[in-house]
Amino acid sequence: MAKINTKFGNEISKYGAVNFRACYNCGNCTAVCSLSTEEVSFPREMVRLSAIGFEDEIKASLKPWECYYCGECSTHCPQEANPGELMMSLRRYLTSKYDWTGLSGLLYKSLPISIIAFIITLIGVLWFAGSVGYELEKMIHFGHMFEMIAIAAVGVFILMPNVARMWYYTILKPKTKVSIAKYVKSMGELFIHMFTQKRALGCDDNQFRWFEHFVLVIGYLSLLFTTVFLNWFASPYLFVIILGYVMSAIVFVVTIDFVSSRMKRNKEVSKYTQPSDLFFVIWLFLMGLTAFLVRLFIDLDILEGNKWLYLMHLIVLVQWALIIVPFGKWTHFMYRSFAMYFAKLKEK
Ligand code: SF4
Ligand code: SF4
Repeated sequence: MAKINTKFGNEISKYGAVNFRACYNCGNCTAVCSLSTEEVSFPREMVRLSAIGFEDEIKASLKPWECYYCGECSTHCPQEANPGELMMSLRRYLTSKYDWTGLSGLLYKSLPISIIAFIITLIGVLWFAGSVGYELEKMIHFGHMFEMIAIAAVGVFILMPNVARMWYYTILKPKTKVSIAKYVKSMGELFIHMFTQKRALGCDDNQFRWFEHFVLVIGYLSLLFTTVFLNWFASPYLFVIILGYVMSAIVFVVTIDFVSSRMKRNKEVSKYTQPSDLFFVIWLFLMGLTAFLVRLFIDLDILEGNKWLYLMHLIVLVQWALIIVPFGKWTHFMYRSFAMYFAKLKEK
């Protein structure tokens, strides 16, 4: 028999869900959702499961990841039950369930804990910079080493085990039978969704938002590649230098729109912006901007006299790599891509 968690409603409210208990099950939201189909129908079903407290069913579901938060369902809900925001809150909740460390849940639910985490990393970087006498060359060398070590460590110790837990909850535990051949054949789905997020194009009037996301993903991944693998800050090659400038500019220019829309809260999708949403876009903006300025100051030969700029970049980088990527909203990008892959595996 299905287990009911009577406290689930309160729990999901801590992840941002508002007024979803007002739902009277009319089904308008599902009818207007352009991504919902007869076989994979949402968000009404997820609103009901949440209101009743069917936690295990929610944990086994990939549906929250199939929603791209266009906000149409919330606009058309006669009860103002905000099904779109409920789906977003379920994604935050699921992220915390997949995360074996439990830190995602703590950071999502508590702003003070998030602030403490940012302060601890800030103190750590300042302590390190002091320990090397604020020598620019050593700080840059450490920054580059840190990027490589952080990518490997976060990937191996946090992200991969968490994806394995997601697979356990959504495929293994519900006893979905999948052949090895299907795992291999469906693999393309993972990378297509990771790089293009093409499913978002299915949302009505979402083309511009999809395009912005697409440009940002490509810009972010290219900037990561340029700084980590092509060592942008130390590279003497013109092609690498220009590539880094273009990619970092793309990241901070595109994120200006995201930050401003989140701050204004004037659209359905930004009305209930949570601190984790803001941290994600602001830190992405700061990453792009500070990286651009650091390279510019190197080329103008004025970075030695302005070490504070590199220090600022390093602080943003460390907070991004140790807080936002493993435990914050960055993970949605990864889980959504895996959800599309797992959904393909579940297809009959
Ligand atoms: S439109 Fe609103 S009231 Fe109707 S099923 Fe959806 S969430 Fe419930
Ligand atoms: S926010 Fe958009 S994609 Fe998500 S459930 Fe509502 S209508 Fe569907």
